[in-house]
Amino acid sequence: MRPVRRGRSPRPNDFEPYPDAKPALISRLGGYCSYCERRIATNLAVEHIQPKNLPAYIHLEGRWENFLLGCVNCNSTKSDKDVLLDHILLPDRDNTFLAFTYSPDGTVSPSAAAARHGITRQAEDTLALTGLDKRISAVFDENGKRVSIDRVSQRLEVWAVAEEASADLSNQPDNKDIRRIIVQAALGYGFFSIWMTIFKDDSDMRNRLIDAFPGTRESGCFDPADVRPVSPAPNPDDLAGGGKI
Ligand SMILES: [Zn+2]
Repeated sequence: MRPVRRGRSPRPNDFEPYPDAKPALISRLGGYCSYCERRIATNLAVEHIQPKNLPAYIHLEGRWENFLLGCVNCNSTKSDKDVLLDHILLPDRDNTFLAFTYSPDGTVSPSAAAARHGITRQAEDTLALTGLDKRISAVFDENGKRVSIDRVSQRLEVWAVAEEASADLSNQPDNKDIRRIIVQAALGYGFFSIWMTIFKDDSDMRNRLIDAFPGTRESGCFDPADVRPVSPAPNPDDLAGGGKI
């Protein structure tokens, strides 16, 4: 899950109505679901971390610090479930890149680093909250070809694209044009963590990806020198419950 920094609110008061925050959020975070990392060209929604429909959080309906961006799948799974900030890992305040492992079979799971930090439970709860732990639902077209409709199959698809890109680059590692085009492909598909995993041994590619996706360099979650994840997250805006990893 890509770490991001939302930064200070562009408005002195709450957003009313709250969807007005969407352009500023896309500008700061990019047009990606904050949870599943997919690029969402249309219907990306302003997502309330603590649900606006629960009485305890009604006052947060227009509050900038309570906003992320969510796709319809993550939003509808998360729904109005209560979110206690100490119990969930959040990409705007924790190093959520470090907390999860992305695997070639399209699954996402709590990482070994999460276990070392004693937050495996929070990592599992985060995946369950947004449905990122759901199994693949195999759908085939009339010719028997698999159709990627769910988030697991889309991760599988992008994993294959990223591996092919890595193979192309390994033939011409000094070709800066290939590097630039791979970053453009990553921006087009989304799934930052998959690209970062495929290019885990290529610090130049990792730095390019961190710089290209809006809000991620600003999160301070990656060391600019060695590109390693910084933990705990610096949480520069001092958001509640942040820095759990
Ligand atoms: Zn999503």
